[in-house]
Amino acid sequence: MQTEQLLEQAEQPLEKKMSFEEFGLRPEILRAVAEKKYTVPTPIQEKAIPIVLEGKDLIGCAQTGTGKTAAFALPILHRLQGTPWRGTGRRPIRVLVLTPTRELASQIAASFGEYGKHTALKHAIVFGGVNQGPQSQALRRGIDILVATPGRLLDLMSQGLVQLKTVETFVLDEADRMLDMGFIHDIRRVIDQLPAKRQTLFFSATMPREIQGLADTILRDPIRVAVTPVATPAEAVEQHVHFVEKSEKIKLLKHLLDGPSIKNALVFTRTKHGADAVTKQLERYSVRAEAIHGNKSQNAREKALWSFKRGVTRVLVATDIAARGLDIVDLSHVVNFDLPNEPESYVHRIGRTGRAGASGIALSFCSVDERPFLADIERLIRKHLPVVVDHPYRSGYGAGTPTNLDPRQSHGGAAHANNVPNPRRKHDASGTRPDGRPGRSRRDSKWTPGFGASKPSPRHAEHRRAEW
Ligand code: AMP
Repeated sequence: MQTEQLLEQAEQPLEKKMSFEEFGLRPEILRAVAEKKYTVPTPIQEKAIPIVLEGKDLIGCAQTGTGKTAAFALPILHRLQGTPWRGTGRRPIRVLVLTPTRELASQIAASFGEYGKHTALKHAIVFGGVNQGPQSQALRRGIDILVATPGRLLDLMSQGLVQLKTVETFVLDEADRMLDMGFIHDIRRVIDQLPAKRQTLFFSATMPREIQGLADTILRDPIRVAVTPVATPAEAVEQHVHFVEKSEKIKLLKHLLDGPSIKNALVFTRTKHGADAVTKQLERYSVRAEAIHGNKSQNAREKALWSFKRGVTRVLVATDIAARGLDIVDLSHVVNFDLPNEPESYVHRIGRTGRAGASGIALSFCSVDERPFLADIERLIRKHLPVVVDHPYRSGYGAGTPTNLDPRQSHGGAAHANNVPNPRRKHDASGTRPDGRPGRSRRDSKWTPGFGASKPSPRHAEHRRAEW
């Protein structure tokens, strides 16, 4: 599905707020929801819960932070609780949730635990990178719901520890990210082991053609639910861009952290090496920071996340995949230390703040060679990011014309190559405003320059895998 179509599907906010009681969920589930202090369902919950309750297949186009976990977990728990397994021997696995990362798997399992705390249903989680012992034991004891990442699940299946023939509901979460991470064959191997007669719930933040193709082969007459399209970052997030060159980015970050407004920040770098370098430098500046990325052990990542959530560290530096699905309540700032080379990642990144109605601020550092990425982002979100001009590390490169926001302009296409500032021409303060009015020097302007030179990075799953 193209961005334009996604945008067309953006729904107007519903006038009347409904309540969780109106879904007819069982009292033990409503009690858990009330304990979580959820009063009003989020749009994805409002739309998806009735469909899942009816046992229908669903394609949900929703980014993380929209409340999509509860959108599938609550009706699943309701249905399981309403038809309890009464056999003897080990409980069969009735629900399988497949998700790309360990962090996301942990969060989904924790949500099932919380929403199902007043039921007798049992869940377990399996993911790689840790000793398999406790996971195997949980499986041997018998569980109703299994949350898994693909690799470890296949391992356990090959050892005969997981039997999927009894699965009634299969949830494929973050399907686009699964494909990005090269999991497509693993997913198909898992699906081959599921019974043909099942309910399938398919969630993806974006719906490119390959994802649609996968959905077409595994869903039966699905109902589509698209809430906040990925092209629309959470309304609550205030966004700004700082033009700053690479060598000065760390100083700008320190400068911003010295100010009072940043309570805590999730800082994104493009590479693991970059994440380590930023963390080290911040420590030298006496800022408490930790990095999380795929080279860190599971324990180290969990510890870093724990310290950050409790305010022990003020800055968490992460790569895209490591940060996927992180649920940090009360995150004041997201900082894009490096701009992502995939515009969708920008939306995912800034969605870490401003979650479930809270406000948040996203700051992006853009060096001259990253300006094509900025143009791609602005075209995707269909707006110009306001430029912060009042900072001491302003880039000396001149600005170009603003991004043409027409999404039909090829992403990163050569059409705008003329607008890329010439790195050898520093301090280019010539020119008029893009609307033709004469005016201030470009460096002092408030408008966003846009550049669309060819995008250097390929969409290679392996390339991105290596970054994990
Ligand atoms: P998710 O998109 O599932 O990762 O959820 C994002 C965050 O929203 C989590 O912290 C949830 O606890 C929270 N949340 C989910 N549903 C609601 C709701 N109806 N009201 C308030 N917060 C919610």
